[in-house]
Amino acid sequence: MDKIRMTTPLVEMDGDEMTRVLWKWIKEELLLPFVELKTEYYDLGLPYRDETDDQVTIDSAEATKKYGVAVKCATITPNAARVEEYHLKKMYKSPNGTIRAALDGTVFRSPILVDGIEPVVTNWKKPITLARHAYGDVYKASEMRIPGAGKVELVYTAEDGTETRELVHTFAGPGVVQGMHNLDSSITSFAKSCFEYALATKQDLWFATKDTISKKYDHHFKDVFQEMYDEEYKEKFKEAGITYFYTLIDDAVARVMKVEGGFIWACKNYDGDVMSDMVSSAFGSLAMMTSVLVSPSGVYEYEAAHGTVQRHYYKYLAGEETSTNPVATIFAWTGALAKRGELDEIPELITFAKKLEKATIDTIESGKMTKDLALITKKENVTVLNSQDFIQAIRATITAALEA
Ligand code: NAP
Ligand code: MG
Repeated sequence: MDKIRMTTPLVEMDGDEMTRVLWKWIKEELLLPFVELKTEYYDLGLPYRDETDDQVTIDSAEATKKYGVAVKCATITPNAARVEEYHLKKMYKSPNGTIRAALDGTVFRSPILVDGIEPVVTNWKKPITLARHAYGDVYKASEMRIPGAGKVELVYTAEDGTETRELVHTFAGPGVVQGMHNLDSSITSFAKSCFEYALATKQDLWFATKDTISKKYDHHFKDVFQEMYDEEYKEKFKEAGITYFYTLIDDAVARVMKVEGGFIWACKNYDGDVMSDMVSSAFGSLAMMTSVLVSPSGVYEYEAAHGTVQRHYYKYLAGEETSTNPVATIFAWTGALAKRGELDEIPELITFAKKLEKATIDTIESGKMTKDLALITKKENVTVLNSQDFIQAIRATITAALEA
């Protein structure tokens, strides 16, 4: 069988710990035998980030802008313990934060559904993709403890010195106050990424805020989305057979529980933080969540939603067998390969990516799975495999599928 050729390289961002180990096995067993893999490799593993003073992360983000599609392994975001463990020169920023800032993108998280692992919400039949705005609001707020009676105002001083004031509250006693902001540029990028991703994946888009209470702040988000939709996307959505739907956040939360899924739910920063954890845990497993960063200019970076699975890595280093689930990392690769195939018009690459996804799901549905899934499946007679044997089982399934 001839290997599938690629024309443009994928930006490959390697990572840390157990996911770095899985990364190598996935490439060796599930990709290299079938595809003449063309990648531009960036080692975002912590030791090399430290060696390059994190320049490698910046370079990988620039390469992503250049080529348009990246696939990323999970990476360590250093804290004090990691600085000590890896003898780091400093406490580097989160690579995901650096890449997100460079691409000005929005992160879309979707669950991978398999028979036998049922969502807690029984009527969810299709994935719900959560899009979280990643800038501002309470995450970049200024706060003050108010010690006692007095007046708090918002003051805007224009460049010419003119002031506009808005009373927050006249305090009769102690309390707290918070001032937060967002930017038209960021809200616009967020809206654009959401509309583009809805079109690219042919799914309805929901957006919700609390505009009835927040008549200027949240209302502005609603207006930015609506104006962009009316001006740029109404016709395109109609042609694609999808809809844009705005509602109040509390109404959205109530409705989400009653629908089948199969749509994108765009959330402001805080709502997205809270709702993505609810949606992912209700779908079953963090190891089955994929994540893609989409920039408003249409650049894509695919990854798993989980971290480097540190606890498993130490067992692996101690020579113990681990049953770490590689599914979300496999889907990061298939997402990236399919997107590359779409952009470069290589239908075989798209077909291969879809077949590998199906082989992965079929393998689980046949009863072969990693421990995390075995613990939550309704299936009986399951075979719990270690990571390597599970990847081997997927290889057998994809090989049979490609020969059929
Ligand atoms: P984690 O890697 O997400 O793992 C937390 C726990 O979830 C694991 O101990 C494991 O539970 C379970 N789990 C997650 N993924 C799994 C998989 N593929 N298969 C089986 N079980 C899985 O989070 P962490 O261990 O708290 O964080 C480790 C490092 O990841 C941190 O340094 C953090 O900075 C980094 N991180 C990176 C990203 C990213 O690059 N996108 C995201 C989050 C965290 P059991 O131990 O019970 O089996
Ligand atoms: Mg959270």
